[in-house]
Amino acid sequence: MDAAEFRRRGKEMVDFVADYQENIEHRRVYPDVEPGYLRSMIPSEAPLEPESYEDVLRDVDRVIMPGVTHWLSPHFYAYYANSTSFPSILADLLSSGIGTIGFTWAANPACSELETVMLDWLGKMLQLPEDFLSETQGQGGGVIQGTASEATLMALLSARLKTVKCVQESDPQRSEADIISKLIAYTSEEAHSSVEKASIIGGVVIRMVPTDEHFSVRAETLEKMVAEDKATGFIPFFFCATLGTTPCCAFDKIDELGPICNAENIWMHIDAAYAGCAFICPEFRPLLNGVEFADSFSINPNKFLLVGFDCSAMWVKKSADLTRAFQMDPEYLKHEHQGSGLVKDYMHWVIPLGRRFRSLKLWFVFRMYGLSGLQAFIRKHVELAKTFEILVRDDNNFEICAEVVMGLVCFRLKGSDELNKALLKQITRTGKIHLVPCTLRGRFVLRFVVCGRTTELRHIQEAWKHITELSSKLLQNLFDHEGKEN
Ligand code: PLP
Repeated sequence: MDAAEFRRRGKEMVDFVADYQENIEHRRVYPDVEPGYLRSMIPSEAPLEPESYEDVLRDVDRVIMPGVTHWLSPHFYAYYANSTSFPSILADLLSSGIGTIGFTWAANPACSELETVMLDWLGKMLQLPEDFLSETQGQGGGVIQGTASEATLMALLSARLKTVKCVQESDPQRSEADIISKLIAYTSEEAHSSVEKASIIGGVVIRMVPTDEHFSVRAETLEKMVAEDKATGFIPFFFCATLGTTPCCAFDKIDELGPICNAENIWMHIDAAYAGCAFICPEFRPLLNGVEFADSFSINPNKFLLVGFDCSAMWVKKSADLTRAFQMDPEYLKHEHQGSGLVKDYMHWVIPLGRRFRSLKLWFVFRMYGLSGLQAFIRKHVELAKTFEILVRDDNNFEICAEVVMGLVCFRLKGSDELNKALLKQITRTGKIHLVPCTLRGRFVLRFVVCGRTTELRHIQEAWKHITELSSKLLQNLFDHEGKEN
């Protein structure tokens, strides 16, 4: 493909994507395919000779589309979804087109510098303390990680090294292996599984902290666990707080947990992957009070800020804690501006060396929506979630299972887990809307997340109508079955 053909095909591809998104709501949101469906549809080996672009594109429709779960559909209410937008998609195209790999400042000065400024812009939108910003020329700053999981892992590994060094300062004879075997991390029993995964990769013990009646971790619970563990020779070193837990969007009390972590030399990382984006709205910002005690903090603009996957923004108060843990300095990566206060070599802040030009997505989206546009987007979703909550509350067959703070509504049919599992199975089978479940206090619960860029009130009403029609049939069957048995 030469530049002339790329020009033509590129325009066609933009049309293809625009058509796809414009008509997405008419597609079945959840695909009707069986595992292994794809292998039989394409050859078992790569072609020896080049094929035509038309053939490839034809197979997108024939092979790929039937197996796609349409995350951007207004009927998609699962997970905490991807909220991309056209400006973000165009920025991604530009990033691919430039094809730069910005691991050091020298590898691409624009990539490194735009990232630093964008993280400051976003940090200011969130009203983060100045300690976390780069422009103050202090010790802090922001970086784009691929995912929230990587942000948590980076924080845990940095905390591990910091604690090992600290213990060795007072006890130089103690080996690193011995110290690591005694390290203990903490997180909420409601935290995302990526926190436990980080502890496995880091080779440290993790304890799940029980939550209160609002699914929040409270200070006295953590304090008690830390005291118990210290008494048995463990070294508490890391606490991952969650703002907006995955099952039900609960918020740990970071304003009361932070002082404990600071007093005990425990690194506090805050995982606010989804909910953190909403802190750009002043009405939600109080939930972030206490961030001043944190060592690191991350949110995923790709979850709730109209930026496409992948983009996890992470800030640290002392960037040296991160970079010291991962500093590699081979000759081929050195450059003349290394070490200058104005230069950031982000390869020291992340696990991979190579990194895409992801800050372009932030730049395009921030400029084309403005803070007010992003706030309006978030507020609309929260309002739609509240509407769905009212519909659920008004129906005697259903119950709400957790406080609705942002775009997530946790609900269930009053009755057994089996009944709710059967309802979800019907929802998935019909493929009209897509939801995933969670477990709250041992009960099977349905999660309904308003997340689509194009989701409107009518979609919420249609979704609820669909859910109640399916549940009425299920309840009727149950009633008939019980009637027969009696
Ligand atoms: N943390 C929380 C609170 C989440 O809800 C999720 C995913 O939904 C994650 C972490 C994992 O996100 P990622 O895919 O960016 O690692």
